[in-house]
Amino acid sequence: APLVGNLIGEEHVNYVLMYNMLTGIRTSVSRCQAKIRRPLAQDDYDAANKYSFDIVGNELTPSAKYDFKFKDYAPWVFRELREDFFLLDPADYLVSLTSKYILSELGSPGKSGSFFYFSRDYRFIIKTIHHNEHKFLRRILPLYYDHVKTNPHTLLSRFYGLHRVKLPHGHKIHFVIMNNLFPPHRDIHETYDLKGSTVGREYPEERARENPRATLKDLNWIHRDKTLEFGPEKRALLTEQLRRDSEFLKKLGVMDYSLLVGIHNMRRGNKDNVRSNTLKVFSPHVPAIRRKPTQVKGPGSPDAVAMRRIMRESDPKRLGSTTLRLPEEDTTVERQHFLFYQDEGGLRATDEQNDNMDLIYYLGVIDILTPYNTKKKVEHFWKGLSADRHKISPVPAQEYGDRFFSFMKAIMRGGEGGSKFLSKEKVE
Ligand code: ATP
Ligand code: CA
Ligand code: CA
Repeated sequence: APLVGNLIGEEHVNYVLMYNMLTGIRTSVSRCQAKIRRPLAQDDYDAANKYSFDIVGNELTPSAKYDFKFKDYAPWVFRELREDFFLLDPADYLVSLTSKYILSELGSPGKSGSFFYFSRDYRFIIKTIHHNEHKFLRRILPLYYDHVKTNPHTLLSRFYGLHRVKLPHGHKIHFVIMNNLFPPHRDIHETYDLKGSTVGREYPEERARENPRATLKDLNWIHRDKTLEFGPEKRALLTEQLRRDSEFLKKLGVMDYSLLVGIHNMRRGNKDNVRSNTLKVFSPHVPAIRRKPTQVKGPGSPDAVAMRRIMRESDPKRLGSTTLRLPEEDTTVERQHFLFYQDEGGLRATDEQNDNMDLIYYLGVIDILTPYNTKKKVEHFWKGLSADRHKISPVPAQEYGDRFFSFMKAIMRGGEGGSKFLSKEKVE
C-alpha cells in the first residue's frame, strides 16, 4: 500500500546501508551504461564486478561517505533486460534510484526478514534477499532471461538488478531491484497476496477493518466472496499468461510465490488515502564526485574525518526535510507497452461484453526465488501432520504450481469460485 513505510533520514539505523546501496548502484550502473552495447556472451551471466568505496575515491569509484565494498552481478544481462524487455529508460532508472537518495522503508512486511525500500518516485523497490535466494537467482538467470524474452507480457517480478553491499566488518547484504506493482498515481483500496493455499492464510478480519491497507490473504478473498472481474477477452489472455508463468516456475522448482492483487476503485478515486499524499522526505547531502589527496592516519585522516562527519550528520536536529508530492498522472510510461499493465499501469476490469468497469487491478507474481528444498520438505512434513497436506503452503513445486494456477482460474469470473476450491478434497 502506498507510503506506509518509514522515511529514511540520517538518524535511521539503515541510513548507512541505504546510502551504500544507492552509491553503489549509481556508480556501477552508470559505468555499464557508458559502454557501447554488445551482444551477450555466455559468461555475462556469471560476471560480478567489484567496487571498493572509501572516502578518498579512486579511478573506478568516486569518494563516498563510508567505507564499503559493492558487487554488481551480471550487469550486461540486467542492462539488456531493462532496456530491451522491460523498456526502461536508462536515465530514468538512474535518476529514480539515486538522484536525491530519498527512499522510504517498509520494514520486513513478510516473515522472511527481508527489507523493502521504495525509490522516492515510488516506481522501484529494493528488496534485501537471503544469500540462498541470491545464489538461486544467479543460477536461474539464463532461464529467467529466456522466459522474459519469449514472454514479453509475463506477470513475474521484473528484476532490474542484483547487487551486494559488504560492510567493513564483513557483513554482506544482497538485494534485488524490481518493479513496484502499485502505481505512484493511484490509491490502492484493497490488497491481496494469493497463493492457492488455504491453511492459515487469513489476515484477521477485525484487524483488516482498522487497517484498510493491510495485505489480505486467500481466506479473506474467499470469505469476502471476491472475484477477479474480467470479461472473456482479458480472462483468456490472463489465464494463458498465468499458465505459462506457473509452468515456468514449476520447471524452476520454486514454490511459496503469490499473486499480488491491488485493487483501485475508480469511483472512490484517490481521495481517502494517503496518496493525495504529500510524502515527507529527507534529503541527505550527496557527496560531490571529486578526488581528494590521500592523507595519513591521525586526526585529519580519512577515517577520522569520516567518523566526525557521520557523527555530525547523524544529529537529528540537523535533518533537512522536504515535502514530495506524488504525481496525479501515470509516470510509468513504459507500462503502456505491456498487456497487463496498460490501463493506468494496471488492468482494468471488464464485463461479459468486454466493456470497461470501474476497477483497476494491479497484478503480478512475486516472491519467486524459493526452491522446494530440504527446509521446505521438513516444513511440509510437520505442517502436514495437523492440516491437509495439500492445502498447506509448503508443497512440492509441481503441486504448488498446479494448485496456484487452478486457484487463479477458480477466482476469475466464470470460474468455480474460491469457496468451491476451498471445499474440494484432494484424495491421496
Ligand atoms: P515471505 O517470504 O514471508 O512471504 P518476503 O519477505 O519474501 O516474505 P514478499 O512475499 O516478497 O516478502 O512480499 C511481502 C509483501 O510486500 C507483499 O505481500 C506485498 O504487500 C509487498 N510487495 C512485495 N513485492 C512487491 C512488488 N513488486 N510490488 C508491490 N508490493 C510488493
Ligand atoms: Ca511471500
Ligand atoms: Ca519470501
